[in-house]
Amino acid sequence: MAILRIALPVPKRQLFDYLLVGQAPEVGVRVRVPFAGRQLIGVVFEVSEHSEWPLEKLKAVSSVLDSQPVLNPVQMQLCQWLAQYYKHPVGEVVHTVLPVALRKGGSNQARPQQMWTLTDEGHKQDIDTLSRAPKQQNALRQLAKQPLEKTMAAKTLGAGVIKALADKNLVQLVSHEVSHDASSKLSFTQQIKLQSKPQANVQQAIAISCIEANLGRYGSFLLEGVTGSGKTEVYLQAIESVLLQGQQVLVLVPEIGLTPQTVQRFQQRFGIKVGVLHSALSDNERLQVWQQSAAGQLGLVIGTRSAIFTPMLVPGLLIVDEEHDSSYKQQDGLRYHARDLAVMRARSENIPLVLGTATPALETLNNALSAKYQHLLLSERAGNAQLAHQHVLDIRQQVLQFGVAKGMLDRIDQHLQQGSQVMLFINRRGYAPALLCHQCGHVEQCQRCNKPFTLHLSLHRLQCHHCSEARAIPRCCSQCQATELVSMGVGTEQLEQGLSGYFPQYRTVRIDSDSTRGKQKLDTMLNKINNNEYQILIGTQILSKGHHFPNVTLVVILDVDGALYSADYRAAEHLAQLVTQLAGRAGRADKPGEMWLQSHEPGHPLLQDLINNGYAHFARYALLERQQANLPPYSYQALFRAQAATARLAHDFLQQISHLFSQQSGIVCIGPIPALMEKRQGQYRMQLLLQSQQRSVIQQAISQVMPQIENLGNSSKIRWSVDIDPQEFS
Ligand code: ADP
Ligand code: ZN
Repeated sequence: MAILRIALPVPKRQLFDYLLVGQAPEVGVRVRVPFAGRQLIGVVFEVSEHSEWPLEKLKAVSSVLDSQPVLNPVQMQLCQWLAQYYKHPVGEVVHTVLPVALRKGGSNQARPQQMWTLTDEGHKQDIDTLSRAPKQQNALRQLAKQPLEKTMAAKTLGAGVIKALADKNLVQLVSHEVSHDASSKLSFTQQIKLQSKPQANVQQAIAISCIEANLGRYGSFLLEGVTGSGKTEVYLQAIESVLLQGQQVLVLVPEIGLTPQTVQRFQQRFGIKVGVLHSALSDNERLQVWQQSAAGQLGLVIGTRSAIFTPMLVPGLLIVDEEHDSSYKQQDGLRYHARDLAVMRARSENIPLVLGTATPALETLNNALSAKYQHLLLSERAGNAQLAHQHVLDIRQQVLQFGVAKGMLDRIDQHLQQGSQVMLFINRRGYAPALLCHQCGHVEQCQRCNKPFTLHLSLHRLQCHHCSEARAIPRCCSQCQATELVSMGVGTEQLEQGLSGYFPQYRTVRIDSDSTRGKQKLDTMLNKINNNEYQILIGTQILSKGHHFPNVTLVVILDVDGALYSADYRAAEHLAQLVTQLAGRAGRADKPGEMWLQSHEPGHPLLQDLINNGYAHFARYALLERQQANLPPYSYQALFRAQAATARLAHDFLQQISHLFSQQSGIVCIGPIPALMEKRQGQYRMQLLLQSQQRSVIQQAISQVMPQIENLGNSSKIRWSVDIDPQEFS
């Protein structure tokens, strides 16, 4: 008889003891157990002979689901770290880490890999006789050299071609059992076919050799290089060395950056199948990548945030591309930061980690400046492409048409006439951010969020951007019944309409989350842009991420003032990153670009520093400001959030938490104060911010107080959470 300590997906910060008669399973195995009248699936964390509970109180395990652990020792260790650091129930951590199919109790027996090989007849076939079908001839020649995995074969040789060969009985599908046994591992090493690569320039060569010198042990690198300076090329050459040593690589990319082009670039370079993980996959597809990576069949896995949990049999290198990107921070449930977890993982696996970006997060830059990370610089764009020149446009007292100053419209015209593309950036989707009654001044608001509805003319409705509540556009004011309703402010939709009316001879495209909904749509749009099918590009954040627009010579950011006066101390950093990323994505060697920021405060020191001295200078200046204000990364924060049907309930709950911390030394409590979004979906939202000079102090204080918080009365009426190293305060 054994006692199993099990992590269960329930909101309790503890393991649960169960009895098992018979052979104890390994740690990391899934079991099914009775819990509060239900059956739950959990993972065994400890096996023991003793329990703090009387044995007769313990329930028995219903069934053991696996013969092999679903989590390897490094993953178990990371789960424990996540639970500890983020103060999150360990069972829910495990739940987040596991692919959905495994959470639900699905089998972890990998399905065999399907490979195309030649039949006996195929081997006898004289390949030259297929000369009238050159594609089939080529495919047969490839498969004669080595079998090819099914999806890879369809991609590289063509599904139709393979089918034709199969119909002639020249090729067949055979199953390759997935094995977790290290001796039959690493089928990818036989598949590697290297494409030619450019000669690295001096800075690239230094970066590559620094990373290579570090293979086989932990080390973090900040690879700082403007867009187009050849960061990806550095990744590729470092990856090559790792793959050739028979080790695996995991690459994280921002959500929007994971396009088929990105994957293709990696796939083509090495000729191997790349495992891809993003939010649009089915549970089964996710599980397959997880299993194939765990079995050492995939040399390279590329994915968004949660891909950081993917197990590797023989890990060699971790890469986080665009490490400053906010999509790496999970904003609900287990609020982990994938970049920080990558550091922990690289340590646990004893491998190097490369953080690449043109605009390092201030936290990362600080780690590089204080020599915790090695700092690798790429200061020139490959092929001598110039960065766009940046200017501020004073729009005080200027007439704006659909948000654009008159002088700027003339400038846009000049660029269009030269056959270039122009790009306009605005951070608001929809037609207008509010609908206002001209008679009484009433603004139509979402009752659940107390925020103005956004007007969407193309959808014929008002929509709340905070809860997605929608309704028909009213014909008259709900307060005074007057019929003159006017829109206020400008969104992407209005800008698009305005510009296509003003420049009817050019084609306009809008890129925001409304227009790019649906699989592949963004990709199609980007391809059309690069084929010059559109001349005027209008968009939100999406434009700044991962895509390069060589024909764009003019970039306009319509409204930067919001970020200068934000209550969020990270707003300035994010604006500077956006500006720099946009500037880096436009233009090329023979077509240098220019960039204009429209502002009511052109003399603002931040704007001036950024455009005159560049991001690297700005970032050091911003760090100094953070240091003087005692803000992260020079202090450590945790944010308690609470929401309830009334503001009072949420406030009082946080007030009690604040009292609990008042006995802890070295901790400053700020609040409770209303969240930036005070009300959302009918719930009132309050926050309590903790700050300390030392990470360990804030960590220990929360751990100590947490049991008391969990037992606070009234908590059934409150939804609360704790966010360690919070990134946003909305
Ligand atoms: P980044 O990832 O920094 O944006 P890339 O690695 O994508 O930059 O490089 C930008 C372009 O320059 C790519 O087309 C790439 O093939 C090319 N490139 C990169 N390094 C070199 C080099 N050393 N020699 C020639 N071309 C290069
Ligand atoms: Zn709402």
